[in-house]
Amino acid sequence: MSFADLGLSDELLKAVTDAGYTEPTPIQASAIPSVLMMRDLIGIAQTGTGKTAAFVLPMIDILSHGRSRARMPRSLILEPTRELAAQVAENFEKYGAGTKLSMALLIGGVSMGDQIKALEKGVDVLIATPGRLMDLFGRGNILLTGCSMLVIDEADRMLDMGFIPDIEEICTKLPKQRQTLLFSATMPPPIKKLADKFLDNPKMIEVSRPASTNLNIKQFLVPVSGNAMKKREALRQLLGQDEVRNAIIFCNRKTTVRELNKSLKKHGFKAGEIHGDMEQAQRIAELDLFKDGKINILVASDVAARGLDIKGVSHVFNFDAPWHPDDYVHRIGRTGRGGATGIAYTLITSEDAENIQNIEKLTGQKIDRLDLGAAAEAETPAATAASEEPRRGRRDRTTRGEGRRDRSARAPVAEAAPEVVEAPAAVEEPRRQPRQERRPEPEFAPPPRRDIRPDGGRRPRRDERDDGPDDGWNGPIPEFLKAVIGG
Ligand code: AMP
Repeated sequence: MSFADLGLSDELLKAVTDAGYTEPTPIQASAIPSVLMMRDLIGIAQTGTGKTAAFVLPMIDILSHGRSRARMPRSLILEPTRELAAQVAENFEKYGAGTKLSMALLIGGVSMGDQIKALEKGVDVLIATPGRLMDLFGRGNILLTGCSMLVIDEADRMLDMGFIPDIEEICTKLPKQRQTLLFSATMPPPIKKLADKFLDNPKMIEVSRPASTNLNIKQFLVPVSGNAMKKREALRQLLGQDEVRNAIIFCNRKTTVRELNKSLKKHGFKAGEIHGDMEQAQRIAELDLFKDGKINILVASDVAARGLDIKGVSHVFNFDAPWHPDDYVHRIGRTGRGGATGIAYTLITSEDAENIQNIEKLTGQKIDRLDLGAAAEAETPAATAASEEPRRGRRDRTTRGEGRRDRSARAPVAEAAPEVVEAPAAVEEPRRQPRQERRPEPEFAPPPRRDIRPDGGRRPRRDERDDGPDDGWNGPIPEFLKAVIGG
């Protein structure tokens, strides 16, 4: 199937060709004709499948007819995080270059005054995180009665972040006669309930999860003692392999991200960090250093696992085994992108047995164990002699490149590892265990609060969330937004 078969306008076909896409991804092929026919839709798909273009492209065609009115956006896209909202805005900028559609991005951190001015002018597309949207709605700056298209993106992420009550409220402010598209990587019961309540006879589209079919990623579990020092040693040993061009290292906690980054730098690695406590501008700066190759290691919390599209990442490390199997899929999906090969190592301790079981159940794939001790024994005598040199001395007298040559004398660990078992084409297992089973509840019984999720799970506190809502956008304002807000 080609893009020309999907019913898109000539302008959009040109935009797609300009973007370098030769054929639609499965979700685009299934979703675009239905969206153009104004049907409601549930897309079970995650980032990396091309789902953004699956809704942005037909939206541009639909909205290109008609005019916007002050304070009455014609369409609304809800995103859980500022990064994803900005990425969707970039997509509109890219594909909608030939149209006169106006957009506004409502995310925390940008002056409300500028956003209100943009809304006053009238916008065709409003891209928002729920928190800021509710704020502006509460102040009477937005009327949603003219909004005939709603996209709820990353719905399961919204659930994790406690946004479902806000979304329900937003849905009630929109006209009943509208088109609603809902995208989610998984369909836990609260999302199903939301869909049943607010979507009308939706078409269901499910695309297989990239990691379940991406055989380009070799995966290994590396058993280590739970001791932080030992874990870091194991990590440094793996990072020392010659084939590690660059790597994203995921940790479960922000404090671990900070400490590990500090430790890696102390050991001479060119490392940086990204997590939810950082200002947006800092996050973008670190990402840019990584993308430009000025650092080749990025220590990250899960905030970086979703949505961010960084090409050419050779390795992903899970310094901590993720608590939720979905996060594993998202994390390792940062490598092996666009047909490239990638390697993912997960350091595991005796406490991770259940997490790993859940991951293997989700992906339908048994992950091979890599014994670092056995790999070390395979080292050549010359290499062993080199490795007995004081580590600091070696690093101090070498540049990073020379250090790499040093390390290449050792037997590459991956060579000692067995091949990965092939994954089945699709995963039929239930994908997510209810989160409350794994997150321990507080020992006391708190009174009913707004931070209790409808499914009974506790909504994470702001300081527990890595990408809490609307803490501040300080990053570069997209070009189209500058035009809209005059910034
Ligand atoms: P998404 O799932 O929307 O985050 O998209 C993931 C990546 O796929 C982005 O870098 C898109 O630019 C890219 N992409 C989207 N559609 C296509 C396509 N039809 N062909 C090739 N790449 C695409």
